[in-house]
Amino acid sequence: MEKLIYLDNAATTKPLDGVIETVERAMREEFYNPSALYDVAVKNSAFLRKARETVKTAIHAGDGEFYFTSGGTESNNLAILRSIKQKSGKVILGGGEHDSVYACANELKERGYEVLFAPIDSHGVIDVDAFKNLLDENVRLVSIMHASNETGGINDVENLVKLTKRVSKSAIFHSDGVQAFGKIPVNVTKLNVDLYSVSAHKIHAPKGIGGLYVKKGVTIKPMLLGGGQEKGMRSGTENFPSIAGFKTAVEEEILHGFNEKYSKILQYREYLYEKLQGSIDDIQIITPMENSVPNILTVAFKDVRGEVLLHSLEKHGILVGIGSACSSHHESRFKSLLGLDDRHKDGIIRFSMSEENDIEEVDYVVDCIRQELNFLTKFTRI
Ligand code: PLP
Repeated sequence: MEKLIYLDNAATTKPLDGVIETVERAMREEFYNPSALYDVAVKNSAFLRKARETVKTAIHAGDGEFYFTSGGTESNNLAILRSIKQKSGKVILGGGEHDSVYACANELKERGYEVLFAPIDSHGVIDVDAFKNLLDENVRLVSIMHASNETGGINDVENLVKLTKRVSKSAIFHSDGVQAFGKIPVNVTKLNVDLYSVSAHKIHAPKGIGGLYVKKGVTIKPMLLGGGQEKGMRSGTENFPSIAGFKTAVEEEILHGFNEKYSKILQYREYLYEKLQGSIDDIQIITPMENSVPNILTVAFKDVRGEVLLHSLEKHGILVGIGSACSSHHESRFKSLLGLDDRHKDGIIRFSMSEENDIEEVDYVVDCIRQELNFLTKFTRI
């Protein structure tokens, strides 16, 4: 089979060779339970501590805690469902949040909280004035993503935290950092967030591993009770091979060579953007180019359905996303928030690259899009 051009890295990434080697070694040779008492197990336990420190260094966690979880979904659930101390009050969630945040809203409503959604603009970024209007002293929790998985748009989380704490001192501020971690520098201390979620499989590490940063002094209740691993915050034998792979990915993706990778990805996106603008009529660029992670370019094409174009490109060996791969329900919720006109609103494609992509691919990708659009829109009735 010809080589696929993979442009859906916001959905998941290919594990690095170094990550696969680490995971294999951990599974073959270092399979001992870190809680056991013999030497090889104690070594694993020490290694887990190092892995935790590695992630903490990457996000500038300072004296905060970092708990390993099964990924972004679990971290978001833990943060949102297990951190509020009061029995009632307001919760503010971003309008364009990932389903793992959005789905918690119903649970919170059932528990008696008033749940409000902060509006987003046409680039998927929080409208700060509208956000301010939602704030009052009854706000218990705010959860706003750092970067949008749909558009790549970055929220000014530092400012949103300031605004929130000014009005409601005791409010907990959580940010879903899954799409920002490893893509832009993340400094949770500077952001001053209380809780911050990350996921490993978006940075070329295994799936099913991630974690939650918890600021010093902030307390949350565990969801999983049992043997008391992760300082009691997440019981269950640690996923040692995946944590080891996660550590390697953080070292390779964030702690070393970050700038070169960032520039390479950005250059690819710039070229794709220019080629699309120059070759295809009437596209709308949804990604805010000056305020976004470097790896996402979301575009609305006219008079075509995103999933139809996706499958047409697949025939050419090009894999792209339509944003929310996992949920058509979320997709429609998100699309309506962007306020696109009728002829563009169904034609959203998300291109998301990584350093594994080569800029030479771009001409071919844009040629294929043009060819397919010519064919697909030929019979469109207006
Ligand atoms: N949050 C965002 C913004 C995401 O993009 C994703 C994954 O697509 C998640 C959370 C869920 O992460 P995980 O797949 O690790 O559960």
